[in-house]
Amino acid sequence: MLDIKFTPAAAPKPLPDPDTLVFGRTFTDHMFLMNYDAGQGWHDPRVEPYGPLPFELSCMVFHYAQEIFEGMKAYRTPDGKVQLFRPYENASRMNSSCRRMCIPEIPEEDFVQAVKAVVSADKRWVPEKMGTSLYIRPFIIATDSSLGVHASHSYLFAVICCPVGAYYPEGLNPVKIYVEDEDVRAVKGGTGFTKCGGNYAASIRAGERAEEQGYSQVLWLDGVHRKYIEEVGSMNVMFKVGNTIITPELTGSVLPGITRKSCLELMRDWGFSVEERLISARELFDAAQAGSLEEAWGTGTAAVVSPIGLLAQGDTKVEVSGGRIGRLTQRLYDTLTGIQWGTEPDPYGWVEPVE
Ligand SMILES: *Cc1c(COP(=O)(O)O)cnc(C)c1O
Repeated sequence: MLDIKFTPAAAPKPLPDPDTLVFGRTFTDHMFLMNYDAGQGWHDPRVEPYGPLPFELSCMVFHYAQEIFEGMKAYRTPDGKVQLFRPYENASRMNSSCRRMCIPEIPEEDFVQAVKAVVSADKRWVPEKMGTSLYIRPFIIATDSSLGVHASHSYLFAVICCPVGAYYPEGLNPVKIYVEDEDVRAVKGGTGFTKCGGNYAASIRAGERAEEQGYSQVLWLDGVHRKYIEEVGSMNVMFKVGNTIITPELTGSVLPGITRKSCLELMRDWGFSVEERLISARELFDAAQAGSLEEAWGTGTAAVVSPIGLLAQGDTKVEVSGGRIGRLTQRLYDTLTGIQWGTEPDPYGWVEPVE
């Protein structure tokens, strides 16, 4: 149990219009902070007014990217309560990222308590409109003022929050994706399974090029064989081929998404045959051309599910689900959002109330 010191904001900010929110630009009144120092461990957990902090330019995170983060949301239910979705999964994944990046772990209970403390302080910021939510960004940065290449001796754990608008204000729109065959996002033995900033830095160029060509995102291939599908943009990816669901297995270069895990659990419960295995781009395009690729979609906290309507590799273009959202994709979206926003029962015990 953390003993969290609370310093309330002197002047609460006016709430933004939920219809014009731009993702990740507007932050709430408070933030959670906790420091780590070698020999002392994690200390001084606190909720303070949101604001800038001073860092020396020699701060390690700026140079060697020893940093990890999480992404999760708080949802407003129809009866006005606020809830989180599987927050212990984020806590456990953050610690897995920490181990890879030589960052000291945070007990899962403390992580969840920290998230709840800041969300509770900023409850009025959790928007009410259907499809809107409060995005929560927990992260840890290395704070030693040193250019020596070694694990930092001091760290800052912070949780900041921003209200976000509906991801699909005009209904679920299928996206166009192409297979990226120059850049790779991650390799086995690297950091692909962690949520670290460096993975994102390496993926920006491919995303920019995709956008220039009128695509929403890229389909990443594995970095060794340049053959097997790994993820779509910064989402996990799933395919319905005939009556079987196929998704890339977690080989170390794929991020273990909580939405991915939840979708797989739901579909197994619904009686689908679900395979986690290697899928080559060749196999996928062959299935598409044979007419058996019925649905394709990405999964992640921001979009929940994102239907894929068109796949391209070089000059080969294949339409999926007639460019519309598939039935199973829609069912996953409806079920998960129903549980998250509390409009449907939660038979799995996935939601966690914030008092
Ligand atoms: C966060 C993330 C995902 C999705 O994970 P969720 O827990 O479902 O939000 C997928 N791929 C990458 C690269 C990610 O960073």
